[in-house]
Amino acid sequence: LTYGAYFCELIDIACVAEESNKELFKLLVSSLYIMKSKAVDYEVLARAFELKFLNLTGYGVDFERCSNCSRKISSSNYISFQNYGGVCSECEKANGIYISPGTFSAIRFLNNLPLDKTYRVNLPEEVRSEVNKILSMLIGVNYSRKPKSLNMLDFFKEGKKNE
Ligand SMILES: [Zn+2]
Repeated sequence: LTYGAYFCELIDIACVAEESNKELFKLLVSSLYIMKSKAVDYEVLARAFELKFLNLTGYGVDFERCSNCSRKISSSNYISFQNYGGVCSECEKANGIYISPGTFSAIRFLNNLPLDKTYRVNLPEEVRSEVNKILSMLIGVNYSRKPKSLNMLDFFKEGKKNE
């Protein structure tokens, strides 16, 4: 229920009333359907949803080429928030965030993966939390307000860790 509410909240944040976006609607319906029908990891599905949501609302991140010099990249340790993409080893790192190459690969993989294949993905805890951090930052800087639906889940998770 919480993840379903989160998907709806993201769409509410990105769209104005009466605006039509068929692809975004398809993404929402598919995500709800996958949650109902498959033994999917909700957190992984939510990250895949966020990536597709960013792409469909014009804030997609390029993980294939350096966002500064356009050189093809297979990995990176930096994501530029200004240029919406990875940065190669030659270019200056500015206005973004350092990430581990494992996290870069995981985000890139999820970005290219069809939504209905996300149930096969398993991410190690460090990668999972870094992917979560980066996507919530990307969402935080691009839209008029930050989603709140997942705050309660994060709160419970923190509580569990401290037990
Ligand atoms: Zn470059």
